[in-house]
Amino acid sequence: MPECLFCAIVAGEIPATVVGETDRVLAFRDINPQAPTHVLVIPKNHYPDAAALAAAGDGLLDEVIAQAHEVGTAEGIAERGYRIAFNTGADAGQAVHHVHAHLLGGRALGWPPG
Ligand code: AMP
Ligand code: ZN
Repeated sequence: MPECLFCAIVAGEIPATVVGETDRVLAFRDINPQAPTHVLVIPKNHYPDAAALAAAGDGLLDEVIAQAHEVGTAEGIAERGYRIAFNTGADAGQAVHHVHAHLLGGRALGWPPG
């Protein structure tokens, strides 16, 4: 099994509730949802954080964001709005070092976040 939790999900070795997928990205529900819709969107290949994903180029970051919007539309939250967040590094509380976009919505989201 891969050492990385999200690589293991991509490999099908750990179950996840998949809500969207392309050749290069996977969207699945967060196991500990913080909002009525809380979905994680990841590139299938391993990049540790948002900066590494941006550096990958080839439209991969664009595809992650587009997939988040597609899931938001399918969940019926796109019209009222949602948040896309990339926790990056210790102060942001990044726990899984396989880059993931949090898609949060379905309720009014406070700002600033905690
Ligand atoms: P972060 O703090 O940004 O690294 O977020 C990691 C997220 O992954 C948290 O919101 C966790 O609830 C979520 N998570 C951890 N393990 C799983 C899992 N097996 N399936 C789905 N989401 C998970
Ligand atoms: Zn990984």
